[in-house]
Amino acid sequence: MKLKVLEKSIDRVKIQLQGISLSYANAIRRIALSEVPVMAIDNIIIIENSSIMYDELLAHRLGLIPLKTDLSKYVLPKDCDCDNSLGCLKCSVSLVLDSGDNDSTKEILSGQLKSVSDTTTIPVNSNIPIVKVAPGQKVSLEAYARLGTGKEHAKWQASNVSILKPTKEEDTDNDYTLEIESTGALSAIEIFVKATEILRNELQEFTEKTGSLKK
Ligand SMILES: [Zn+2]
Repeated sequence: MKLKVLEKSIDRVKIQLQGISLSYANAIRRIALSEVPVMAIDNIIIIENSSIMYDELLAHRLGLIPLKTDLSKYVLPKDCDCDNSLGCLKCSVSLVLDSGDNDSTKEILSGQLKSVSDTTTIPVNSNIPIVKVAPGQKVSLEAYARLGTGKEHAKWQASNVSILKPTKEEDTDNDYTLEIESTGALSAIEIFVKATEILRNELQEFTEKTGSLKK
């Protein structure tokens, strides 16, 4: 089996997998879509919300903002030893959003979300509109982000992945190109590497379990 990187940027990578079966390429695709964890806001505590947007909708919108994720710093809440519903420093990041005072109607953007516990976990894009506030209205809240996977909810989906079949005549049936487009939470290459790591661990666990059947 051979790997050939055809295109590579931070958010997008095209990797040709030579000499593998379609089912193997599909396994990597499925894992990249639904099992590679990224950070997303999952809990909010409203301090004040006098905007016309309901708290639930505000929470939903905040959850969909892609956050830069450092997988070396955090664990999934299910793998954490803390027993706190809001998590601890190993499994959760707290952020704040405060619209402040305003004389005219203004739009609150994702760039105004400030990370409290870890300044590297910030929105990928600072220009995503969250809520509009009119004069005298205010939004102030605490938000808690945690790692999750696309399996749980689409807000934790790290990427879009497609499998492209080669069209060139010299290519064999066993070459598939994987195209990964990241939300920006992780780099596209990190998603690929993490997906293969998860696949390897799953196979290893499977081998150990089937091995114990023989005993
Ligand atoms: Zn924890």
